[in-house]
Amino acid sequence: MKVSETPETRSKDTEVAASASISIDRVLGELSVNYPQADLNLIQQAFDLSRKAHEGQFRESGEPYVVHPVAVAQILAELRMDCVTIAAALLHDVVEDAGIEDRQLRHEFGDEIAFLVEGVTKVSRLVSDSSYEDEQLESFRRLLVATAKDQRTVLIKLADRLHNMRTLQYLSSDKRKLACQSTLDIYAPLAHRMGIGRVKDELEDLALKFLHPDIYRDLKEKVAQKAPERQIIIEQASEVLRKTLQSEDLRFEISKRVKHYYSIYRKMVTTHRSFDEIYDLLALRILTEKDSDCYLILGKVHQLWKPLDGRFKDFISVPKVNGYRSLHTTVVGPRSRLMEIQIRTHDMHNVAENGIAAHWRYKRDQGTTTRVGDDTRWLGQFSQDLLETVSPEEFMDSLKVDLFAEEIVVYTPNSDLIQLPRGSTIVDFAYKIHSEVGDHCRAGKVNGKFVPLSYVIQTGDRVEVITKKEARPSRDWLSFAKTARARNKIRKFLMQVERGELLETGKALLTRELERLRVPVKMLEDPEKMTRVFEDFHLRTLDELYVSVGFGKVLTKHVISRLLPKTQLFQKKQASEATPGMIPIRDIDGYSYRRALCCNPLPGDPIVGFVTKNRGISIHAKECQSLASANVSEARLLPLYWDRGESESFQVEIGVEATDRERLLSDITSVIASTGTNIRGSVARSQDDGTAKLVFMMDVVDVDHVNRVINRLIPIPGVKTVIRRTKPSRQLSDAASTSPKGKRKRTHKKK
Ligand code: MN
Repeated sequence: MKVSETPETRSKDTEVAASASISIDRVLGELSVNYPQADLNLIQQAFDLSRKAHEGQFRESGEPYVVHPVAVAQILAELRMDCVTIAAALLHDVVEDAGIEDRQLRHEFGDEIAFLVEGVTKVSRLVSDSSYEDEQLESFRRLLVATAKDQRTVLIKLADRLHNMRTLQYLSSDKRKLACQSTLDIYAPLAHRMGIGRVKDELEDLALKFLHPDIYRDLKEKVAQKAPERQIIIEQASEVLRKTLQSEDLRFEISKRVKHYYSIYRKMVTTHRSFDEIYDLLALRILTEKDSDCYLILGKVHQLWKPLDGRFKDFISVPKVNGYRSLHTTVVGPRSRLMEIQIRTHDMHNVAENGIAAHWRYKRDQGTTTRVGDDTRWLGQFSQDLLETVSPEEFMDSLKVDLFAEEIVVYTPNSDLIQLPRGSTIVDFAYKIHSEVGDHCRAGKVNGKFVPLSYVIQTGDRVEVITKKEARPSRDWLSFAKTARARNKIRKFLMQVERGELLETGKALLTRELERLRVPVKMLEDPEKMTRVFEDFHLRTLDELYVSVGFGKVLTKHVISRLLPKTQLFQKKQASEATPGMIPIRDIDGYSYRRALCCNPLPGDPIVGFVTKNRGISIHAKECQSLASANVSEARLLPLYWDRGESESFQVEIGVEATDRERLLSDITSVIASTGTNIRGSVARSQDDGTAKLVFMMDVVDVDHVNRVINRLIPIPGVKTVIRRTKPSRQLSDAASTSPKGKRKRTHKKK
């Protein structure tokens, strides 16, 4: 057994600067110890390019720039990262700051290194600490994108930030402040989330040192003053423990833990307690070989000193999400001093200090990916969840919850453990289990009691989700769902529902327009014909087109214009019958115009405009008898053609004569309705001779539309004639008995 004096290993070096000769000997030395097989040539090559590229550039400190990438590489070497990561670290600023082409990197160092450099570069470009919130956010998003692909990106970025923090004294105080802020807001929590305890602690201490130099100095002094006394107590405790464990066949070592300054400071601030109250706690760590030894030692510790209630935590059987494993307990030690004791194996300690860096190492060393993959898969999922968030605000909120929030542990009915951020609700739990469970959850049961979906679950709760097949996510779930995962899934579901509705609307609009133009609707399914439509509107599928049309992003007329050649389109618009010199109706928009009541023309009817003396332009059918008999001067007639807006509709009346029978009226109305036509009113009158006369007033878009309705009415049993009434009746009630006065009567007789 040995009592080690070393606190958290903290590289005090970093003043690489002072020694004028810049070399990577230390990096190479570290590497060759950790990796006897390491490709040191690769490192040398990366260093050579970096030195050349940064030639003539200097840090704010006045040192040659290349000192920085070397220091970053050194940090990563100490984390025992692989050669590829270290080479990428040496090159991490050459694209951004030294104008080396991405292509050159790829060519000389391969895709893997080029990708890492690119990932870090993209982030650096924005992490300028200049305009704070938005850019930080954006840079962070980018970091996550790269990290989701290769976790080493974030490690390089963290090492980069760490070295920049170590040399912060050279920056202006404004820049310093911003750097400290983003370090505390983003980088330290990120390092924590990645499980890299030592990097997180140092980042926080550096931020404290530059933000509050006085507090930092004060804490440092006080801690130093206490050191001798604490050392004595800890040695006593160690001695007692050693004697007790002597009989056992196990190897262990005890070290005192020095809490980092920022954690003392934070605790003082959050609990409003003095330094002495906080620092009274002695912290010990016992490292041993096997998992089972940890429990054995724990038993002995609890025999020796009375454990404090509620302070024992077993992170070995329930590891933290970031992979942290250890036993924690607090006991009343010698001289009645409270001792906080952590018990873990060397492996667990390595993970606690180095986090995903340790995982990478195992992966490389042992060629086993099983354990590593399991432990770090959350990172990919976590990045993915965050990246799917919709707005920067949502992103930041989710980030706070998923990255920074404390974790709670709850149980399923089968006693499986589920970890969630604090503040999670039943809905979050449900989506954590499975998206199907989330999509159909109805309520929850917590410790046997029914609770609503918005119920906030607590550590230790036994949670059950009540699902129902018909249950669906609703928008108000978004007001209480906490995790990015749940929120994304809910939003996705809502969007799908809305998409379905838009799709139907768009399909109907497009189909109707094609039918109006007598274009076969099947054309929409012809990939060759649709190529231009898809290309022009950046769409890939017909469904996407329907949705865009339904949404109003793409107008039907624009689809049609790409679907049909101009001439064909013109012919299809037989309604227009435009010849040179004719004026589209739209062009007389400035004037007031109306359809003449005597002939009630519809789009599709050839028309002519009659310039009245003081009632604007009246639009007549070309064959209107009233107009003909009025004998007006040519000069007052305008050659017009229809050129309507998209959704304009016109009122028209249809007269039906039929042999009276039961359900005649309802048969006719349902046929009209089936054409998607709106019926405004109807009148029916039975006559003595057994015939029925009916009039329907409805909204149509044009002549084709009204003809389509007429064609559908003719086959109805009993129907004898169907006419489009060109002169609407004053009173519908009067309609059936009045024979239409318009002489231009179109009668459709049944064959
Ligand atoms: Mn850098």
